[in-house]
Amino acid sequence: FNVAVKQYEVDSNQKIQELRTSQQLILIIIVLTVIIEGLFVITPLSIKSYRYSKNLHEEANQDYLTNLLNRRSFAVLAKQSVAMVKRYHSDLSVISFDIDLFKSINDQYGHNLGDKVIQSVASTIQNNCRDSDSVFRFGGEEFLILLPRTSATEAIKLAEKIRNAIANSPTYSDKLIIEITASAGVSQLNSQETNIESALKRADDALYQAKEQGRDRVI
Ligand code: GH3
Ligand code: MG
Ligand code: MG
Repeated sequence: FNVAVKQYEVDSNQKIQELRTSQQLILIIIVLTVIIEGLFVITPLSIKSYRYSKNLHEEANQDYLTNLLNRRSFAVLAKQSVAMVKRYHSDLSVISFDIDLFKSINDQYGHNLGDKVIQSVASTIQNNCRDSDSVFRFGGEEFLILLPRTSATEAIKLAEKIRNAIANSPTYSDKLIIEITASAGVSQLNSQETNIESALKRADDALYQAKEQGRDRVI
């Protein structure tokens, strides 16, 4: 009888051991499944949602035609730039560009080609600016450049360079070569000013004068 009881104890100990091993195996499988799911299901999903919100953010701040910053994002960046001027006593300049006689381009060649000209001017401006500058499409064929750490003298030099580049970068389409010019007004933030508004107004007034004086010039 004793032998039989001993045998029974050995058997049941073995069973308990086997049960524990299989429980541990199941636990490992569950943990692995959760990890794999995390890697292959949740990670791509969160990347997707990150990309989606990034796209939404970019769409809200970018101009659809040129990929430049849009007018909406100007307020935020202008405020930041003015704060930097106050903090570091640095310079801040603004250039306002407007394509000359653009209505006649639309009238002569149509709206689609007009759009192509706007895109070409946008990339000419962007290509001539530094990464630290911000280029905005401010209206139909108006562009604004915000230049941190730049004096009016330096901004005028840059505006001249861009004006020249625009005049020498025709838009090609099928058999057509469309040549255009642009005018610019430049201004610098005064040390007493606490927002960009007055500087913007001075740049616009200068642009108006450039148009009055025959276009294709910087004032
Ligand atoms: P100025 O030299 O005085 O600037 O003459 P302008 O003809 O350029 O005058 P204005 O600024 O008044 O005209 C701008 C024109 O730009 C009017 C509008 O039809 C056109 N325009 C505005 N937005 C767009 C756009 O997104 N695409 C195209 N193709 N044309 C646009
Ligand atoms: Mg114009
Ligand atoms: Mg205009």
